Amino acid sequence: MLKNILSGKSCAECRICCLFDNYDLWETPIVSDSLYEKIRHDFPNIEFMEKGKSHLFRCIPEKINGEELYVCPMLDHSTGCKLGDNKPFDCRIWPYRIMELNGRLVISIASICPELYNKPLSQLVEQLDKNGLGDIIFAEAELNPDIIKPYEEGYPILRVKQA
Ligand code: SF4
Repeated sequence: MLKNILSGKSCAECRICCLFDNYDLWETPIVSDSLYEKIRHDFPNIEFMEKGKSHLFRCIPEKINGEELYVCPMLDHSTGCKLGDNKPFDCRIWPYRIMELNGRLVISIASICPELYNKPLSQLVEQLDKNGLGDIIFAEAELNPDIIKPYEEGYPILRVKQA
């Protein structure tokens, strides 16, 4: 979804968004019911936890560069995400995040993505207009409210949903 602004090569070399520490475990992707069924069929050993009507991967603790991290079980350290183009919506829009602030839906961006966070804010906002990305994110949040995270201080707000 972000191929025009985020190169596949950078993602392949980085993969920071597939590793979580204790503080950002809340960032693990939400897996919709239909994707859940597909993953259970294709990867029967993957474990999940429940969140609302959706599912979360049970991430695997691993020591990486001396740090205790939780690794998404769909990550293959050599080849990347095993889900290919069937990634959860959260992963397809990463590092954009949909959050709720004072009862309003906002789209923000995670600072942890080195590739996008270093781009001018104007370009990040412009991207939301391209191919209707902002509207797609708000529409998905309506269909699956489990993807909405509580607003985290410090996340730049790029768009607010109009009432
Ligand atoms: S589903 Fe794929 S892209 Fe998403 S966090 Fe897991 S490995 Fe990364």
